[in-house]
Amino acid sequence: MSQLTRMRELRDLQAALRTASDIAFDQEAPAGEQAEVLVDALRRALTAAQSLSEGPGETGCREHPRGAVDPLYGDKDDPLPPGWGRCLLCNDRRRRATRAARRA
Ligand SMILES: [Zn+2]
Repeated sequence: MSQLTRMRELRDLQAALRTASDIAFDQEAPAGEQAEVLVDALRRALTAAQSLSEGPGETGCREHPRGAVDPLYGDKDDPLPPGWGRCLLCNDRRRRATRAARRA
């Protein structure tokens, strides 16, 4: 999910939660139409929250789906070795391993 999509989901979540809490913290217990609006808002909040927690992250890495993307990924002038992914954490580990192998 792109950063932009995540921001949009977060805004949806906040708007839905605000609506829900406005109704829930009202002087009187919600009934009828108000109760339906409450259920609808909470459902939207749940959907938005789920889409924030699901799916592969930017890195496409199973171990670090929420990690940083390697800034060198896709760099034409300084390409990453073949087989390396977008995950900065995994690539750093590979870099360290490569350096250690060179020292040995
Ligand atoms: Zn990784």
